[in-house]
Amino acid sequence: MIEIPRRGLLLVMSSPSGAGKSTLSRRLLASDRNITMSVSVTTRPPRPGEVNGRDYHFISKEEFAHLRDSGQLLEHAEVFGNFYGTPRAPVEEALAKGCDVLFDIDWQGTQQLAEAMEGDLVRIFILPPSAEELRERLIRRAQDSASVVAKRMAEASSEISHWPEYDYVIVNENLDLAGQQIAAILMAERLRRRRRTGLAQFVRDLNLKL
Ligand code: ADP
Ligand code: 5GP
Repeated sequence: MIEIPRRGLLLVMSSPSGAGKSTLSRRLLASDRNITMSVSVTTRPPRPGEVNGRDYHFISKEEFAHLRDSGQLLEHAEVFGNFYGTPRAPVEEALAKGCDVLFDIDWQGTQQLAEAMEGDLVRIFILPPSAEELRERLIRRAQDSASVVAKRMAEASSEISHWPEYDYVIVNENLDLAGQQIAAILMAERLRRRRRTGLAQFVRDLNLKL
């Protein structure tokens, strides 16, 4: 199959907590070999089942401050009283190899990425189908205490208010459909002319034989 070299892209998925972005991210990563997950650092404690180095790098506040102050984070933010940030080096390595990187970061981090590398960024916002369903999903996930669920519900509308800052908005009612919509966005964005650094050469070679 003809493979035309291209730059990698940065795919950001944001949503209020519980809308389904971790589930959708896992599905995308399992079905697409050309995209890798950016593993953030966080000062929040791990939830049951979370694995250090896979879900997050769980670090202390002192370690976080060192990474941030030495420029090793591409973006960072405080969310629900915990600090989160994106390590810079793995993202730069992936882009250079023409691989795409998936980010599960909030609107603050998305704004910082847009300032640094807007041309490489594709932003998707995931909405829940309804407030009742969001509450159900937060409870069903059963990883957080009742007070954490209440706090996340209270934060949802301020997070949702950032939807106009995203390129695409998906309502995650049906997982299969939402997954297909994300795959379609990714396919179209990969085909954008300006990302396809090998296109001029391909057309030159084509013309030689016409
Ligand atoms: P987020 O990463 O946005 O906080 P999760 O992916 O952890 O959300 O999803 C929260 C809960 O909702 C999980 O239990 C997940 O299985 C469930 N869920 C996600 N999407 C759907 C969907 N379309 N229909 C039903 N349940 C869903
Ligand atoms: P959680 O604690 O539920 O895993 O994540 C809480 C919020 O922090 C989510 O909105 C998630 O997208 C966001 N988040 C996770 N990692 C990062 C990061 O590295 N940077 C930023 N800005 N937000 C993050």
